[in-house]
Amino acid sequence: MSFDFETLAVHAGVSPDPLTGAVMTPIYQTSTYAQASPGEHKGYEYSRTDNPTRTALQASLAALEGGEHALVFSSGLAATDAVLNLLDAGDHVLAGEDLYGGTYRLFSQVASKRGIEFAFISLNDCQTLKDRLKRNTRLLWFETPTNPMLNLIDIAATTKIAREHGILSVVDNTFMSPALQRPLDLGADIAMHSMTKFLNGHSDVVMGSLIMRSKETYERLKYLQNAIGAVPSPFDCFLVLRGLKTLALRMERHTGNATKLAQWLETHPKIHRVIYPGLTSDPYHALAKSQMSGFGGMLTVLVDGDLDQTKRFLSSLKVCTLAESLGGVETLIEHPAIMTHASVPAEIRQKIGIHDNLVRLSVGIESVKDLMEDIDQALASV
Ligand code: PLP
Repeated sequence: MSFDFETLAVHAGVSPDPLTGAVMTPIYQTSTYAQASPGEHKGYEYSRTDNPTRTALQASLAALEGGEHALVFSSGLAATDAVLNLLDAGDHVLAGEDLYGGTYRLFSQVASKRGIEFAFISLNDCQTLKDRLKRNTRLLWFETPTNPMLNLIDIAATTKIAREHGILSVVDNTFMSPALQRPLDLGADIAMHSMTKFLNGHSDVVMGSLIMRSKETYERLKYLQNAIGAVPSPFDCFLVLRGLKTLALRMERHTGNATKLAQWLETHPKIHRVIYPGLTSDPYHALAKSQMSGFGGMLTVLVDGDLDQTKRFLSSLKVCTLAESLGGVETLIEHPAIMTHASVPAEIRQKIGIHDNLVRLSVGIESVKDLMEDIDQALASV
């Protein structure tokens, strides 16, 4: 029997606890497991290696992304670093030029010191990608939609080129979640998430994940998960498992609210430009419709003002919370140039369009009327 996403979100990976029948997967808060005789155990030896609460979460995630295997890590960046550890000194990585600032920092400042070479390129057209491939290119890494410019990359076309050249492709699916976009179905080798965001959905956990179909890739990454040891706690796994149950519902509401806000902001005199793939005016609208099943809760706007006016707007909000991160049930708003993308050099920020009047919203599930009133009163200060 095959199940729809909404059913999988509630049931996949979890079954009543064999000991008590508990319907919710218990928090197996243990570091170790008793053995009957040396080497004779029930599949669990030590919680860095495996933990039953984590096993349930990983099984759920694999089902939701349409993968065979999933691995979770103590943060999104720890998941990213595990992939980088598949590479050797001298290997070359092609990465999208518009990336979360922390990913850019990990690539350009940390992994580059291990002798891995990175090129950050526009993935808007396949020819640029083909032109930039090198003999030693081993990994293609991109986000779509990108953070914070919401540029879309054609997943099927881009990963096809990677596959033809034997290059591992990873799509950071944090902004969409598998409720709205499934990179593995479109040809990617690995779907990556900062589960800190929509997958957990409640702004109370930091976690990352990798989902894949290849058993060989899984085994190499599973080895690294244990060997490096950046694993999440059983309690955090429990929280994310709980959050996943409402993922389908939440993404529907995030999308509905973001769409209404985007359309309203497009007509607002204090807003210079709205970037949202759900708007028919958006240059990526057709691609969004072809590779996403909804447009998501992320919205970027350019305020019609300078840095001071933009700061005043952000400080005047009462319902929307000025904070880093995204994907929670509450609306979060931030200033990428000063906050999430401060680690991206100023000249690159200018090149990709992260200007001083650019603001990113993660639209929550509140009443959209209340959000509009809040934004309107704050924009009055511009
Ligand atoms: N990828 C994207 C798109 C993100 O927005 C973030 C964090 O903001 C990360 C990766 C890194 O994840 P984490 O903060 O969980 O390490």
